[in-house]
Amino acid sequence: MAEIQLRNINKRWGSFVGVENFDLTIADEEFLVLLGPSGCGKTTTMRMIAGLEDITEGEIIIDGKVVNDLDPKDRDVAMVFQSYGLYPHMNVYENIRFPLKVRKVDPATHDERVRRASAMVELDDFLHRKPAELSGGQRQRVALARAIVREPNVFLMDEPLSNLDAKLRVSTRAQIKNLSHELKVTTVYVTHDQIEAMTLADRVVVMKQGKIQQVGTPTEIYDNPANTFVASFIGSPAMNLMDGVIRDGIFEGVNVRIEGLKAADGEVTLGFRAEDAEVAEAGAGQINAPVYTIELLGDAVMLAVKAGGQMVSVKAHKEYRANIGDAVSFSVPPNICHVFEKASGARIS
Ligand code: ATP
Repeated sequence: MAEIQLRNINKRWGSFVGVENFDLTIADEEFLVLLGPSGCGKTTTMRMIAGLEDITEGEIIIDGKVVNDLDPKDRDVAMVFQSYGLYPHMNVYENIRFPLKVRKVDPATHDERVRRASAMVELDDFLHRKPAELSGGQRQRVALARAIVREPNVFLMDEPLSNLDAKLRVSTRAQIKNLSHELKVTTVYVTHDQIEAMTLADRVVVMKQGKIQQVGTPTEIYDNPANTFVASFIGSPAMNLMDGVIRDGIFEGVNVRIEGLKAADGEVTLGFRAEDAEVAEAGAGQINAPVYTIELLGDAVMLAVKAGGQMVSVKAHKEYRANIGDAVSFSVPPNICHVFEKASGARIS
């Protein structure tokens, strides 16, 4: 069992607030992703769980035990960082074995454990090599094996894929997901990459300036963003957001009018996703705007159009073709629109 409770955690350095009122229970075996832009407090939160950073206020409880005053080595957590942190003079075998030696684990078990961990990350054939003789992806797998070999209750991973190229990121990402599932280890994973968050997480915590913005499954966060920050941070392309006014169920923005909305009168930010816009025959849609760019994605065509003085993404059928500057006509069904209060950005409907 490794449930992690973060009870109203605050972290301050002098008057600067790094993390504010962070309150969350991470379930046993859950894969939780902390997601947010640079400086939002993800790493600090993780370092507090690891015991590498003092907590200003609040309690961290792992497996029913308050760990605030426990040294990192006495918490049953293993960390994997973006910089692999391997010892250059040791070969792969010795690097993976190192945590067992430090923790004075019975030497008779070392060989079996090292071989099991290295097999899990497919490094069996590389055990004799030094880190300098490995690719970036292989080095990161050594770092993973070194975390696995300890058989910890908790994995903490801080942007472990960011030094890898795009292709390796995808394959290592799948491997991490698979390992965490297979080993049934509670995992807290930090990233600023929303695709990583969406593909890996059981639940995502979206953070901004030290504060939780929303906690939910990837689908909940994508389909029901709690505010405009989450809406614009999740999804590729980001959700289209347009300012305007709703009166009697009619949204009016710059050159944009959408009828049939179920929201009270007021100043709002209206959101819709590129894939929810419906491209229509010339002039037949609610919004008519010139094409700024057109990208062929293979399974679809992504248009950026200039509507009402701002760029809007619209996904069209894969056969759709247009030239830059051509007019495109599209509609936004009112039932798929997200409505946010303009002043606070909070979701209304
Ligand atoms: P990144 O994605 O860039 O790593 P992050 O979300 O992990 O960002 P943190 O490293 O947790 O962000 O930092 C949160 C905030 O706390 C930042 O504004 C950072 O400058 C600040 N901070 C971090 N460590 C300290 C420190 N030792 N003293 C003062 N401020 C700090």
